[in-house]
This record gives sequence, structure tokens and C-alpha cells, in this order.
Amino acid sequence: MPSDHHPADHAQAQDPAAEHAPPHMSPDEFRALGHRMVDRIADYMRTVESMPVRPRALPGTVLDGLPDAAPETPEPWGDIFADLDSLIVPNLTHWQHPGFFAYFPCNASGPGILGELLSAGLNVNGMLWSTSPAATELETRVLDWCRTLLGLPDAFAGNGVIQGTASESTLIALLAAKSRADAQTPCLITSDQAHSSVIKAAMIAGLASGPDDRSRVHIVRTHPDGSMDLADLRRVADTLLADPDGPQPIMVSGTVGTTGTGAIDDIAGIRLAMDDASRPATGEPWPGWLHIDAAWAGAAAVCPEHRHLLAGAEVADSVCINPHKWLLTNFDCDLFWVRDRSALLDALSITPEYLRNEQTDAGAVIDYRDWQIPLGRRFRALKLWFVLRHYGAEGLRAHIRRHVAWAGWFEQRVAADDRFESVAPNRLALVCFALRADSPDKANAATRDLLARVNETGEVFLSHTASPGSPPSGGRYTIRFTPGATATRFEHVERAWRIISDAADPASR
Ligand code: PLP
Repeated sequence: MPSDHHPADHAQAQDPAAEHAPPHMSPDEFRALGHRMVDRIADYMRTVESMPVRPRALPGTVLDGLPDAAPETPEPWGDIFADLDSLIVPNLTHWQHPGFFAYFPCNASGPGILGELLSAGLNVNGMLWSTSPAATELETRVLDWCRTLLGLPDAFAGNGVIQGTASESTLIALLAAKSRADAQTPCLITSDQAHSSVIKAAMIAGLASGPDDRSRVHIVRTHPDGSMDLADLRRVADTLLADPDGPQPIMVSGTVGTTGTGAIDDIAGIRLAMDDASRPATGEPWPGWLHIDAAWAGAAAVCPEHRHLLAGAEVADSVCINPHKWLLTNFDCDLFWVRDRSALLDALSITPEYLRNEQTDAGAVIDYRDWQIPLGRRFRALKLWFVLRHYGAEGLRAHIRRHVAWAGWFEQRVAADDRFESVAPNRLALVCFALRADSPDKANAATRDLLARVNETGEVFLSHTASPGSPPSGGRYTIRFTPGATATRFEHVERAWRIISDAADPASR
């Protein structure tokens, strides 16, 4: 039979993009540069102590050192490394510096960094189980390891997910609560010591037009130690629930370890107060969502002696804890557990045709895209897995215990020195203190000045807050001291106390 097939059809086709050849790094070039980069990171770990914790950069310093436009042609890596040395590293605040005692820690570790590197190298997108089964299943497993390590109840089993940050977890909890409650005018209750991310979540979820809009964000008073006043919670909830035509509270956000002073809300007590606040019409308990933000302090629950901090978690609807703060896992990594995943899925699931697949359709798998705001997701479980396996539970406990012990030592110095006073009870690895003076105003000014002079040394970096409550007893300018950096040793804590003590000497003021 004659054929209309022409042999020329099999001739190798010309690449229509042959002249477009991006200068990709070959695997061998990557290997060589990668080794140099790892060397740099190791050198950084060794030498960061010799750098000032904070740069003396003025605004615009780095911007002015960078060209206005991206390079048109490839640049040599020697130049890139040189810019890192001259422009970038000297203008960083070194969160991994052993003298970093500010905010809450953001501690990294060798295994965490290697996990981050591998995650970038594999660069999978685990949006669906089917787009990377191992990414999903490893995440499910390590979240359950962590749940057990932290003593969180079985009610959360299989219902954990890694979010980028605690802020995202709180927002997601609010969206789930909103979807479950289906209220005409939903509102949120939290305390005056809750992290600002709670109000930000309300702003994003459409419950507040700005940070000061209190029409649908109700703020409960706190005790002098910063924990939520449950009688005030009850009063706020009762008032709201008594008016079925007004805003209906859909969520209470409690905190275990407030950002200011590390105060601990009583989780079980919050739930009791919520249950007691009943709708007058029906007399039924109010089924509001209880979210617990344990971003920093929750990590301490790896130690049995600190588990009580999360006592009552079984009555919470969701809880979040940040290993990127105090569990040696590089930023970003927040663990979020939810009791009833269907509320989350109702709030966040949407399945266009292009994402449909056999396993999802069969309901046989978890698709974590439905548990978060973005579609795409990084393989964060790897770094957490490496950290858990490298340190073991014992190593993690040692990490927490040394910081708590050092804070205890520091607090004793504060208590024994009558120039200072402790402004809030010492919580875990957080000490809040101020200088004494004849009047609150003078004490505030002197403490502010002390902090500035201490940070000016460049050897240490501490931050501040206002103590819970209003002046004169509350609202005091307070210095926060939080050991937590991976590289910190006791000698750095001792040195920090020496610097603070010397700077507080009237002769040095
Ligand atoms: N919640 C608490 C109690 C915090 O202390 C912080 C930060 O320090 C946050 C939330 C915000 O954390 P993230 O940066 O993970 O959103």
C-alpha cells in the first residue's frame, strides 16, 4: 500500500528556542557553590558572636548600596559573595547571636537549616496529596509526633497542619469559627494582652475596619499578671449573647504565654466561662470557638513539668505553637491543630476541575491546601522532622530547660538588687523588669534610658513592653529579657546581667 508517511517527519526537529539558553547552574557548579555557601553558614555560626547584635544602619543604607535595576547580564558569584559581605550581613540584626535576648527567640539549628536547604532543593509543592504524597504524609506524621510530645489530647490526632505563622493560624481559626457559626454579625472576644495578630485576623476576616474598631472585637480585661479575667469574659459574653439582634460572639482567642509578659490564660476556665454564658432564649451552652495562641510558651510543654500550661487544651477548638520561636526549627513553622477539621474544610475548601484527582475524589487523602489560605505550600515538615530526629525529645527538653533555668538565675539577680524590680511574674524563659524610682514617670524614663544604653553596647539586644493594666500600677515601661538563641551559653546570660547592672549604676548614667 502506498504510504503518505514521509521519512522527513522523523528528522530531528529544530529547537525553536535554541538561541534562548538561560545560564542555569550545572549540578557540578551548584555543588561547588553550595559547599561554599554551607561553609559560609558554618563560619557565620562560629563568628556571629563577634559582630554587633544590631547594625548601626540608617534607613536607606542598604537600598542606596543596591543598583536601581536588576542586572541585564549574568554576574559572577564572586561579586555576589562580596556584596553579601559588605552590604547585607553587616546590616542585619543577628537573631542567632548569643546576645539576642529580645522579643521572643527565632531559633535556628543545624538540622533545621539542612531541612530548609533540602526543601528548597526538592522544591515540591504539596498543595494536594497527589502533588507530593510524601510531603503530606510526613507532615501528618510529624504533627502527630509533636502532639504527643507536647501532651496535646487525642482529640487533635490526625488534625494537625503546618502554617507559616501563628498569625495565619489565628486567622484560619477565625474563618473556621465564622463558617461554623453562620452568624449574621459575627464578633470576636479576646484579651487586652492578646497578640496584635488576633485583631489583625479580625481586620482581614471583615470583623474590624481597622485596629481600633471595637464594634465587633470585644476586649476582656486582664488581671495584673496579664492573664484573662474570666469574670470579665463572662460579663462580655453575657452582654453580647443577651442581644440576639446584636453582634454574636463566634470565637474567644486565649493566649498561653502573652507576648508582653508571658502571662498564661486558664484554658479550661475560659471554656467554663463560655459554657456558663448561655443564650437566655434557649438556655443552651454557647458553642463558641475557643482558639489558643501558644506561639512561644507552648514549646515548653515538651517538658512534663510545663505541660500544665496547656492543661484544658482538650476543650479548645484549635491551638497553635511555633517551633520557629523556641523549638529549633527555622522560620517559618507554626503548628496548628484543630478538633473538628470539617469546620476548617467548610471555610477553606474549593475544588476547581484542574485540581481534581482520583484520591481527592475518593476522599482517601488529606489535601493540605484546604487547611490554609494559599494553594501552594512548601515542604516544611522536612526541617521539623530533621530537628525531631536530630535532637530527640530529650534534646528538645534540654534546650527549653536551660533557658528556663537561666531566666530563673537572671530573675534572682533582679530580685536581689534593690535598684530593680520585677514587673511581672517570671514566666518560663521571660523576665520582665524595670528600674525603681520615686515616681512611675521617673521609673519609666530611667528604664527606657537604661535599655537604650544596654543595647548601645552591641553585645546584647533586649526589647521592651508596657506592663499589663493602666497607669499608675500598669502601663509601665518594662524591659524583657528572654534567653532563647541556639548559640547562647550561660556566660552570655551572665555577661548580659553584668552589662545591665553596670549601665544601671548611677555613675554611668
Ligand atoms: N502570638 C504570640 C503570643 C506571639 O508572641 C507572637 C509573636 O511574637 C505571635 C502570635 C505572632 O507570631 P507569628 O510571627 O508566627 O505570626
